[in-house]
Amino acid sequence: MSQEPDDFSELSQYPLDRNSLRLLPEPFCRRHLVVVLGKVDPTAPNATVTVGMLDPDNAHLLARLGDLLERSIHPVRLNRYEIESALETGFGKGPRVTADLVIKPRPPSRTHPNAVELVDYILSMAVEKKASDIHIESYPGDVDLRLRIDGILHQMYTDMSPESVQEVVNRIKILAELDITEHRKPQDGRIQAVIDKGEDNRKVIDYRVSVVPSPAGEDVVIRILDSGAGLVPVTQLGMSADMQRVLLQLLNNPEGLVLVTGPTGSGKTTTLYSALAQLNDGRRKIITAEDPIEYFVPKVNQKQVSTHMPYAVLLRALLRQDPNVLLMGEIRDLETGSTALNAARTGHIVLGTLHTADAVGSIGRLRGLELDDTDIADALLAVLAQRLARRICEKCAEPREPTEEQKVLLGRLLEGVRLMAGRGCDHCHHTGYRKRIGLFELLVVDAGLQDLIVAGAHNAQLRKYARDHSFKTMVDDGLEKIAAGLTTLDELIRVIPYRHIVATRDERQK
Ligand SMILES: [Zn+2]
Repeated sequence: MSQEPDDFSELSQYPLDRNSLRLLPEPFCRRHLVVVLGKVDPTAPNATVTVGMLDPDNAHLLARLGDLLERSIHPVRLNRYEIESALETGFGKGPRVTADLVIKPRPPSRTHPNAVELVDYILSMAVEKKASDIHIESYPGDVDLRLRIDGILHQMYTDMSPESVQEVVNRIKILAELDITEHRKPQDGRIQAVIDKGEDNRKVIDYRVSVVPSPAGEDVVIRILDSGAGLVPVTQLGMSADMQRVLLQLLNNPEGLVLVTGPTGSGKTTTLYSALAQLNDGRRKIITAEDPIEYFVPKVNQKQVSTHMPYAVLLRALLRQDPNVLLMGEIRDLETGSTALNAARTGHIVLGTLHTADAVGSIGRLRGLELDDTDIADALLAVLAQRLARRICEKCAEPREPTEEQKVLLGRLLEGVRLMAGRGCDHCHHTGYRKRIGLFELLVVDAGLQDLIVAGAHNAQLRKYARDHSFKTMVDDGLEKIAAGLTTLDELIRVIPYRHIVATRDERQK
């Protein structure tokens, strides 16, 4: 869709044409700091459009430009001043962008840093540490800053005090375009910031801000969306070779529904995008309906759910675009559920998510939406359930004995399993863990299971059938990964519900 960006460009190289400049809406240009350069010939729909931007590597923005201009984009790198002066030619002197923030990462220098410095520091440090969320919490006489990294909250030191936290919260609310006089209602907003680490090292980060009143002030949670973070190849998700093969075969079907289930933060999105990237061989049309778009996938038509285009409306519109593959988000009600099932029975591969604890549970969940048993049995190809466990740091891994409590909980499941754990070292910030690995179970809906679903069989019967046909649970998968020294027993117990471990243990002891 886009060509390689030029490394060195300056504005004077390009003629500016008012009509061409106005091909992009002004608010979009000012918010994202992009500008159309040169003269665009309206009679040549295949011509490439040159667009000046701060970060030509911002794949997500390039995709949006491609959609808006309906042409391929040739990005060139310009500085903020050049872009703003070019925009003046097209639109006249405009308002300065307030929500766009350029952060040059550095620790706050002075002994009493102000709120602007503190917020810049918190936003950039969290990205540096690859955090997924920032939590700022106020208590009487105290304030906490914690970052969620690899799924676990870590306390951070800052210069924020109970006296200065309100200023920090206000600064965040201003950047996110929230009402700073409102302290009693929850508010949501977003901040787009450019993290600028000097020449050629800039990235645009989207922050989703949620502010909620608390007894001691306001609590802020900021979700970090680094759309340039890139995709994980299917081979690196942590699936066994067998499971990868089966999953890819399923996705190669001409039609059907494949669900990925698990709680928030279990890696569902990562898995879906990896699968999409694998399917994306240029022969299929792939469309996604997302809220928000978390990763950019080249040559995939990604659409953002918006107030103008709510989820159910967007899904119906996208199906008219003749896709082979439709990636939808969560199936949450009868409407999205029947859209998914119908699409999956009329020549589309549909990928979706559900919030259920395990794979078998999703059949009950679909029934709970009042979807028809026969329709479910017809459309559903498979359900993949997953969790993310932290990986043992390979620099400090050592053998570990299970505790008495763990021996009781796991019983015979621990037989012959040698446990490992990280002692903690500089490499893993003394946590004993580094990065994460998926624990999976893949329930394939075969003819036997179809019959049971149509016959109205309940979860226990479905589960028994699956077990009798060599279905491996997440607990089995976790134990294999523990035995391979990839993760710990503590992690298995942390991420998989207790009753699933007990159920797997009891089945083994029969
Ligand atoms: Zn270590």
